[in-house]
This record gives sequence, structure tokens and C-alpha cells, in this order.
Amino acid sequence: MHKSVDYSTCTCGKRSYHCRRDASKAKRSHPQQKHLTVYRCAYTGQLHLGHTPEALRRGDISRDELAASQRNHHPVAA
Ligand SMILES: [Zn+2]
Repeated sequence: MHKSVDYSTCTCGKRSYHCRRDASKAKRSHPQQKHLTVYRCAYTGQLHLGHTPEALRRGDISRDELAASQRNHHPVAA
């Protein structure tokens, strides 16, 4: 088995990393790392690795607006 960074599964179904260093390490080992960004989950505030949204990259929307839209698309039962 190859050694990988430690992570748990978030409420939203994504991998949540315990610290930014782990997330960055996971990013570096990813083939599409150029398109990935470390961000905080809109639900739990945990660290996720995800594709950089086009609108955010262009500066059309802020990170807060993006988080709000993600909340609307994926409501989570309390
Ligand atoms: Zn999450």
C-alpha cells in the first residue's frame, strides 16, 4: 500500500483533510493539481480539495457567494 495523507469523510461526502499541509500534499499528488484548490467546506469549515470554479477564478463571484450557492444546491439535513 502506498502511504497517503490522512483524511475523513465530510458531511457533504468529500474528503476532509485534517490540516492544510495534508491537503496540499494530496493536491501535489493529483494529476490535475493545476485546477485544484484547497478550500473550506461551506457546511463544516473543514479542508477540502476541489476544482477551482471558473467564476471564482475570474473574480465574478466571491468565495462567500460560492459557498452560499453550494449550500443551495446541496441542502444538508441537520
Ligand atoms: Zn464538506
